[in-house]
Amino acid sequence: MQSKLPNVGTTIFTRMSALANECGAINLSQGFPDFAPPVALTEALVKAARSDKHQYAPLAGLPALRTAIAAQVQRYRSVSVEPDTEITVVPGATEGIFCAITACVQRDDEVLLLDPCYDSYAPAVELSGGKPVHVPLSPMTFMPDWDVIESAVTTKTRMIVVNSPHNPTGTVWSDADMHQLQELAERHDLLVCSDEVYEFLVFDRKRHRSVLQYPALRARSFAHFSFGKTFSVTGWKTGYCIAPPALTKAFRRIHQYVAFVAVTPIQQALAEFMNAAPNYPNQLADNYETRRNIFLRALKGSRFKAVPSAGTYFQLLDYSAISDEPDTELCERWTRELGVASIPLTPFYQAPPSGQTLLRFCFAKNEDTLREAAARLCTI
Ligand code: PMP
Ligand code: GLN
Repeated sequence: MQSKLPNVGTTIFTRMSALANECGAINLSQGFPDFAPPVALTEALVKAARSDKHQYAPLAGLPALRTAIAAQVQRYRSVSVEPDTEITVVPGATEGIFCAITACVQRDDEVLLLDPCYDSYAPAVELSGGKPVHVPLSPMTFMPDWDVIESAVTTKTRMIVVNSPHNPTGTVWSDADMHQLQELAERHDLLVCSDEVYEFLVFDRKRHRSVLQYPALRARSFAHFSFGKTFSVTGWKTGYCIAPPALTKAFRRIHQYVAFVAVTPIQQALAEFMNAAPNYPNQLADNYETRRNIFLRALKGSRFKAVPSAGTYFQLLDYSAISDEPDTELCERWTRELGVASIPLTPFYQAPPSGQTLLRFCFAKNEDTLREAAARLCTI
């Protein structure tokens, strides 16, 4: 049968995690924590499972959860969002991003993607009949070059997808970048799909800037969030999309036929936890910054060069002093031979730069896991 996505295979995250399991390697590849979520959250899930909340939630999500989300957005971003008309709970940001793109992208519309970028964006554009237009981030810094981005805009450009804090590079956009984005979107009447799933994982006293905080940007944006990252429950596959009422309406039309709704007891548990522990996100930045620093300190004396990571739970390491082997091959070889699995960078590009020697390591792990992985990396 002719696939509608003829050029994709199984995602690199799935493949590398499978290889890590097969080899018994320390798995710093696919992004997920190896430590437990907050006990109060899992207890809330047990309670929800024992309650009578087992049937479909409303299309937009449980009202109690949407109210808790609005309170969190007010608390952390000083922005007021309307739970009924602007928030939709989804079974994971991946589905939210897919629905936002599908809702707006028509045949032959162009969508700007900034490479390297997360793997789910381009397939969503293609399945909508649109054309992904891949624009490189600046090669050394992985920050946006606004002149280069603007030069890729045509009369067919409908949307730009942005992602800060950025997977896979760990960069965090500044206020100036957000203003540039706002001006670009206004000048060319673009919609914005803003992937902010790592909003609370920002280090070195930097701040996350949400599209929700820039009124002209907010008016044309879908902002995507994931409880998986914030509460260390990636397997719960629950997130939410915030967009102005007209965009939310268009979004829900698609969402109702992709997933329909998110899982009820999980929503119930999240609402209870968020109401009981509104300060929980406050400690995330320090918590993850500590893990990053443990990993980096343990790598001192190795031949890797760390690319600064200001956010997410990913650290890029440059291996150019060790090898010129292509990253996908080296990554597999080190998983087998060294017992440390990571993610190569080339799958995040449409046209990978030649000779790039970077691997992505997930540091959402226990200290012992990080120290052992770093010790093995120091042997090469
Ligand atoms: N965007 C980025 C940049 C991610 O790293 C992830 C993590 N998988 C997602 C979206 C998807 O999040 P979710 O697991 O909630 O679908
Ligand atoms: N977002 C996770 C990562 O970048 C992976 C999620 C997935 O496997 N799709 O590692």
